[in-house]
Amino acid sequence: MDSSEIAERIWLAIAQGRLAPGARLKEEELAESFEVGRARIRSVLLQLSREGLVDIIPNKGAQVAAPGVQEARDVFYLRSTVETRVAAQLTGQLTPQAADDLRDIVRREREAIADGHLADVIRLSGLFHLKLAELTGSSVLQSILRDLISRSSLITAVYRDTGYFNCGPDEHDAIVEALMGGNEDEVLRLVSEHIEHLRADLNLTSEQQPVKNLRDIFEL
Ligand SMILES: [Zn+2]
Repeated sequence: MDSSEIAERIWLAIAQGRLAPGARLKEEELAESFEVGRARIRSVLLQLSREGLVDIIPNKGAQVAAPGVQEARDVFYLRSTVETRVAAQLTGQLTPQAADDLRDIVRREREAIADGHLADVIRLSGLFHLKLAELTGSSVLQSILRDLISRSSLITAVYRDTGYFNCGPDEHDAIVEALMGGNEDEVLRLVSEHIEHLRADLNLTSEQQPVKNLRDIFEL
């Protein structure tokens, strides 16, 4: 299994809440679970730590990052700031092809929800937001948003109140149509409200959570 696939599996286990914040990520156990060498696991863990999903603690090893309540609030504040900037730049500027690409992501998101494919739901929800950033052509907006969305997934896994993660395909559709319509006030209102809904689904009143066994999580 290559590094990106391992990273994806660990990311998903975190995003789906199977791997709790603070859980130890032992190189040896992971190497065994994925049937690869420890050097590969080490590079995957480094990559995940750059994305804010894993903390590497000297003399102790890696563990799933455990974002605090304040960090969670900061991440959603930043998302709102960055994403309204993205939306303002795209208002009235989407090509018909770009709009179709966005609608296609939303369509796949709906299918994933209907099929109960949580992993795809999480991935496609994030992809919608990343695609908007990509369409601005700004590499700084894109890389900052990629980082914020990784962190949001972890925060959502930790602080989601109950039930199913769902970014909201109806709201995504409304954003695409408003971008095409070209009314910036309308676009900014929809984007702000959407991020606010994501934040409102979280229980940010208390710090969270227990730890599980790695072997149970990565049973292949
Ligand atoms: Zn969304």
